[in-house]
Amino acid sequence: MTTSSSQEPLARPGEGPRLRPALDGIPAYVPGKPADGGPVTFKLSSNENPYPPLPGVLETAVAAAGTLNRYPDLACAALTAELAARFGVPVSHIATGTGSVGVAQQLVQSTAGPGDEVLYAWRSFEAYPIITQISGATSVRVPLTADEEHDLPAMADAITPRTRLVFVCMPNNPTGVPVRRADLERFLDRVPQDVLVVLDEAYREFSRDPEVADGIDVYRERPNVCVLRTFSKAYGLAGLRVGFAVAHEPVAAALRKTAVPFGVSQIAQNAAIASLRAEEALLERVDALVAERTRVSDALRGQGWRVAPSQANFVWLRLGAETAAFAGACEAAGVTVRPFLGEGVRITVAEPEANDIVLRVAGEFLAAHPALRA
Ligand code: PMP
Repeated sequence: MTTSSSQEPLARPGEGPRLRPALDGIPAYVPGKPADGGPVTFKLSSNENPYPPLPGVLETAVAAAGTLNRYPDLACAALTAELAARFGVPVSHIATGTGSVGVAQQLVQSTAGPGDEVLYAWRSFEAYPIITQISGATSVRVPLTADEEHDLPAMADAITPRTRLVFVCMPNNPTGVPVRRADLERFLDRVPQDVLVVLDEAYREFSRDPEVADGIDVYRERPNVCVLRTFSKAYGLAGLRVGFAVAHEPVAAALRKTAVPFGVSQIAQNAAIASLRAEEALLERVDALVAERTRVSDALRGQGWRVAPSQANFVWLRLGAETAAFAGACEAAGVTVRPFLGEGVRITVAEPEANDIVLRVAGEFLAAHPALRA
């Protein structure tokens, strides 16, 4: 046996463990920029709920922390039972995971590998390309329409014998635009039964449009449809990482197989149950955010912006080449937003004081860039 001196590197470049080539070039997930502690700072870059946890929910979480020397309940049995009763679905159709993004990744892992295709609209939730590539599958992206809507007829046309999973993000992140039930049904009628359609409803609780599809109603009638929901947005538990799918067998069973064992902490499980039980108080906060969404959208339109009709807790401004400048102007005024360079910015609707700063910046920006007017 030879020993190497402490100065010698253990492996030369290119000699380390061999990693899967599928990982080459995976774009990093870009987290929303934090508010960095200036005089007024609001983080409007991650679609978080601006309200702190409700007192009862916080106490439940703190109490659960008292047992953190123990593993959590692997099956999330109490939370699963609560969700099944809440939605009127079999317990075996609920699968929990580490945020809905964790469950989304399990769905891709369960359906698609090298040679298979995962189809989604673009631009949409930035995790879709990442989790698809990790699985070794190929992304097929169908551009949004000029009205920022899912182009569902074009998506149906894009299905091939290799398509294994379709994400429909409703409402869409980052545009906020929902999917109408009639359009969704027409699309689903064209999807082969062996292709899984995932209705990603991370923002469902913010929806107020009666024409918008409710994924759980759609799932009930279609064995190849499943729904993703989360406690991160309306329920304000983003930091605890708990989301879930409502899915028929055998998809739900596949999710149980692919789950990271003990991935959802007991703190998260108990806080999620407490949130469901405190739903009335939580949904009042959601109503307040929806009212702010209307106020912000109307005010922006009044200034002369073209604002996509959002059913989520954020609004989207298409700014093209001015995207970075707009995000910079927001930051200088004390709010961080989420720029998608060359495309636009996504602005989380938050407390009125933060929203007022956005409106002031947007008004000044439009005055200085009249070409952006609708
Ligand atoms: N789906 C969509 C459309 C999202 O915007 C997000 C959060 N950005 C998620 C899923 C994931 O949320 P979480 O993992 O916190 O449940």
